[in-house]
Amino acid sequence: MLIPFSQIIAQDQAKEMLRRALTGDRLAHAYLFRGPEGIGKKTAARALAAALNCVTVQQQRIFGRSDRLAYPGYAAPDRLPESAPLLHGYASVPTERIFGRSDRLAYPGYAAPDRLPESAPPLHGDAAVPTGRPDPLEACGLCPSCRKFASGNHPDFLEIMPEGAGIKIGQVREIKKSLQYPPMEAGRRVVLLGEVHTMRREAANSLLKVLEEPPADTILILTGDEAGGILPTILSRCQVIPFFPLPTETLALALLKSDPETGGRQAPQNRRQDPPLPEEFLTLAAVAEGSLGRARQLQQKGFLALRREVLDALLNLRPEEPAATAVVLYWAERCAQLKDELEDFIDLLASCYHDLSLLDGYRQSNQPDIKASKLINRDLLPLLSAAAGRRDTAALGRCRQHLRRAKSRLRRNCNRTLVCEVLFFDLL
Ligand SMILES: [Zn+2]
Repeated sequence: MLIPFSQIIAQDQAKEMLRRALTGDRLAHAYLFRGPEGIGKKTAARALAAALNCVTVQQQRIFGRSDRLAYPGYAAPDRLPESAPLLHGYASVPTERIFGRSDRLAYPGYAAPDRLPESAPPLHGDAAVPTGRPDPLEACGLCPSCRKFASGNHPDFLEIMPEGAGIKIGQVREIKKSLQYPPMEAGRRVVLLGEVHTMRREAANSLLKVLEEPPADTILILTGDEAGGILPTILSRCQVIPFFPLPTETLALALLKSDPETGGRQAPQNRRQDPPLPEEFLTLAAVAEGSLGRARQLQQKGFLALRREVLDALLNLRPEEPAATAVVLYWAERCAQLKDELEDFIDLLASCYHDLSLLDGYRQSNQPDIKASKLINRDLLPLLSAAAGRRDTAALGRCRQHLRRAKSRLRRNCNRTLVCEVLFFDLL
């Protein structure tokens, strides 16, 4: 599937940097899209690759007579000479594709470009394009090149993702081998290398030469985490395009918009009693720290519902109650079934105890009317406020320590059920 640039949420700085590079024909030969996981870096790389090869984007630049790429020798792109030759490379795309009724660029909001509404005004050349100059980042989704991108079969687009723990040296060798030949079609070959922060030194070293001098018409796009881990030798050879975590409200809105498609099927079973309110999306957004990918993961796994149930049980239980042991053992067993995701879930519980300490601080300073928006787990305000009143500051500090200890035990491969049992008893 080809997701156009316009559907990538936020990331205005990245879009603007790339747009300027494209407009001024100043593309670098290697980019590093850098930022946290799940915020659109790979999607942006694919969209850029599509735009660079999109026949319509090229056509628009040519018919707008401002295309230096198509007439590289011509210095004043706004005034092409009458003698400028026709571009045979694009002959297969009829002009009406561009000036006719199939222009998604001119109608960015319209999802089905093949069937523009009858009310859409006819486009007569450049002057009639209501949005002004077409966006060079926006692939049309219709031309032969875009169709190939959409089906995942573009011969000049290589996507390399880590095999196992990281990108291996063998994968880098494969890239080098395929770069020995020129691109198969007109346009630019793009190599996308995902998650380069996972790359070991020898694989990275093997990549350096290509990064420095990729073959003509080839652009390398690397994506990587912002939190260190990328070797300086790689960093110094790429132009870095920063990607940022999404603001909480923006992310919550994106979740809400996409919910009818993704929600329901994989939702937790008690969804009926706990309908998806915006509050839930706001919480997901805050817990996911601005990563749409992570928020969707949390949503699909039903982590928020499980968190509510576990906290409800633990915060309302006293250690001396006869039922305490049975309750703790039950939830320890349930949570241990999360397996590799247990550590993520303990992170989520830790964010609740962070909120509890925050509420405690407000209570101490006689500011009881805290706003839900101050919390990470804002949907749990009533439950957490009540619990914060029953615990003292020192006890809350100890709970946070217990959570940290549980995580380090998991990393040392201790038995998951046992780790949860000890943790939950400690949290009572
Ligand atoms: Zn296209």
